[in-house]
Amino acid sequence: MKKKHRVIYFISVLVFLFIALYITTQIFQVKYSYLMKGNNTIELKVDSNNNVIVPDATDIAKFNYKLGTLYWVLSIALTLAIPLYLIVSGSATELKLWLKDHFRRNNLIIILYIFSIFTFLFLTSLPLSFFRGYYKMKLIGISNESLFSWIIRVFKSFLINSITTTFIGFLCYKILNKAKKCAYLIIGLLTLPLYIMGTLIYPLYIDPVFNEFKPLENKILEYKIKDLANRADIKDLTLYEVDKSKETKAMNAYMTGVGNTKRIVLWDNTIKGLSEGETLVVAAHEMGHYKLKHIPKSIFMGALYSIFLLYLTEKFSRAFINKKGNKLKIYSIKDLAAIPIIILYFSLFSLLLTPISNGYTRYQEWQADKFAIELTEDNFSNATVEVKFLQNNISVPNVNGFIKFFRYDHPTPKERIEFSNGYNKFNKIP
Ligand SMILES: [Zn+2]
Repeated sequence: MKKKHRVIYFISVLVFLFIALYITTQIFQVKYSYLMKGNNTIELKVDSNNNVIVPDATDIAKFNYKLGTLYWVLSIALTLAIPLYLIVSGSATELKLWLKDHFRRNNLIIILYIFSIFTFLFLTSLPLSFFRGYYKMKLIGISNESLFSWIIRVFKSFLINSITTTFIGFLCYKILNKAKKCAYLIIGLLTLPLYIMGTLIYPLYIDPVFNEFKPLENKILEYKIKDLANRADIKDLTLYEVDKSKETKAMNAYMTGVGNTKRIVLWDNTIKGLSEGETLVVAAHEMGHYKLKHIPKSIFMGALYSIFLLYLTEKFSRAFINKKGNKLKIYSIKDLAAIPIIILYFSLFSLLLTPISNGYTRYQEWQADKFAIELTEDNFSNATVEVKFLQNNISVPNVNGFIKFFRYDHPTPKERIEFSNGYNKFNKIP
């Protein structure tokens, strides 16, 4: 195909994907229109023992859950189909030959190849990102973001991710070329320093690209959270509130950083929407992650996980090339054109292994909940905060087992409310 034809063809594919997703979403909206009408107010109900009753899912939350699941299935199909298309259509090889014709320096060719593949995957995922990250959020009424600011956010993340992915991809490619065997082991171990660098760099340099981080406005709340931190023996903790309300109505909080960069970040929606007791419970949960050393443990487990994932990827990629390589003119795993094969198997095994990583983080989240109840002695707020999250994040309290294993890195709200009701009841009534 001529270069000009190829561009027209590619644009047509993007337009086709967009229209197909639009039609699918419209059919879905018509089919489930009866769920879209109700409001999402959840009434807090408590039984005679001061236990919070797990609420029923609201209609709009059911709608959000169903549409979210549909987009999730479509995203899996696309993640696997796009690299497969690059391999089978011969585009992976053509791109390599074109770059070799136009550029001399080998390293530059590798960098441009990886960057082009990343850009291709990014562009083909863009229509679904739009429906998933923008359209759906507007539809269920959780988004505060304008289309323009969504585009700016996507563009910024493209810049950051394309640079980091190209850099890491280049490094992995070099290792794969030099190492005779066990490239997976070297690359897997390399995730350790990469993760550590990420934890050091992200909160200080990347997060502020997207949002504004300010000290907590409510000084009484700040005092009470720091008092809680003192009781948990956490020194030099900084508290920030971040302007997430410009994007979403959803609530969240997280803890990140190490040493004197360690911080608890509360989304401004969280501070506005929760009672003081609930905010303290959320902060205590984050302190739990820190005290129970969840970040270093996750980094270590993450490296083991990566080694296993990369082992499977390398083994299956090699087997695929041995079997089908001649036909596709891809003769070795060291061939640049083999990169989409590696991406395909990497995506496939990442998906198949998600229940393991999700199970691990669900366990850590459960531990942090337990820690929060013990530190605050406030079972009640720990349960009511889940009800507020349900309402604000328009989510359902309970999901089926398959979805839980593949998509939930936190226990379900139902499990968290029931745990808060039952665990070591302190009977503190706020
Ligand atoms: Zn957590």
